[in-house]
Amino acid sequence: MSCKVLVVDDDPWMTHLLAHHLKQDGHTVLCADCGFQALELYRRERPGLVLTDWRMPSISGVELCRAIRAQAGDQPVYCIMLTAVTDEDQVVEALDAGADDYVYKPFRPRELLARLRAGERIVALQTEVSRTAGDLRHANDELAAVNLKLSVAIQRLERLARTDVLTGLANRTAGVERLEECWAASNRDGAPLSVLMLDLDFFKSINDRYGHAMGDFALKTHARILRHEVRAGELTCRFGGEEFLIVCPNTQEESAANLAERLRQAIESYPLDEAAPELRLTISVGVAQRSADMAGPDRLIKAADDALYAAKRAGRNRVCRASEQTGGSDATSLSRRTASSALVSSKIAS
Ligand code: GH3
Ligand code: MG
Ligand code: MG
Repeated sequence: MSCKVLVVDDDPWMTHLLAHHLKQDGHTVLCADCGFQALELYRRERPGLVLTDWRMPSISGVELCRAIRAQAGDQPVYCIMLTAVTDEDQVVEALDAGADDYVYKPFRPRELLARLRAGERIVALQTEVSRTAGDLRHANDELAAVNLKLSVAIQRLERLARTDVLTGLANRTAGVERLEECWAASNRDGAPLSVLMLDLDFFKSINDRYGHAMGDFALKTHARILRHEVRAGELTCRFGGEEFLIVCPNTQEESAANLAERLRQAIESYPLDEAAPELRLTISVGVAQRSADMAGPDRLIKAADDALYAAKRAGRNRVCRASEQTGGSDATSLSRRTASSALVSSKIAS
């Protein structure tokens, strides 16, 4: 398809002659007799080809080329200068000003038309290139948007993969990772490292007696209490069903045992249900500090777990320290069950 051609010449006879040849060659022709009219026509019609006289009053062909290029922006336009000037310097000036080609007057129609067709091919190519660039930019923008969504989704998945769905606490994977990090840090700086292993006492009977929903509610409530009580830097994770692990970096066993006792008291005194104030849960806690003979973090967890089971064996609702275990069933406990909590636990258990 032929481009529209804007023909500009202050000589009406020349404009007429050019238009005649161009129309015969299948072009749509716009005619202007001065630079101002040409600019106005260009703004309205955006022709792909401009064929302009050089010497014109008010705006010269060179100035017109410059002005059209400035208006065109990204849109391709091919300018041919029609001139009687043969001076080399002036031809160079015209080409530098943005003319793509020039034709001497008097022009030879077949040559002029051939040059216009060459111009048309270039305009078609440039149009194609800028359309492809536009498509690429668009695809790039879409890709960037998809990438952004993807990275948000990945972050969300990563967070979900490390979160316990029911309680919102860190899950076991995240807890063990944190312990491994703290273990490595304590290798470097020799700082103490302790863990707490907590287990709700007689929890099964909550499910059996009040239903699974109440059990879930109790787990969520106690997770909130734990989260509230631990310090920044300590990490609480749901280790298993009704078992929680708390990692305490830079902490001696004694301080960790104090935290465990605080937690035990907080949970013991928290009424789960306003309507049933006697319904209170208790926890048993095992506390252990990293020692020189432990090969890795799993040994520390094992020591806390052993202390936890000593607490269970010793009657529940108490804190036992690994360092005080003798290996027998009579674990030394930091705390003693109060009469009322013993009553609640045994009530639930019965
Ligand atoms: P102990 O004092 O010896 O720890 O007794 P227990 O009843 O707490 O321990 P046991 O291991 O016998 O039972 C644990 C129960 O925890 C059994 C299981 O149904 C319940 N449980 C584990 N995960 C969930 C959970 O996500 N929701 C609810 N509702 N119950 C759970
Ligand atoms: Mg339990
Ligand atoms: Mg358990």
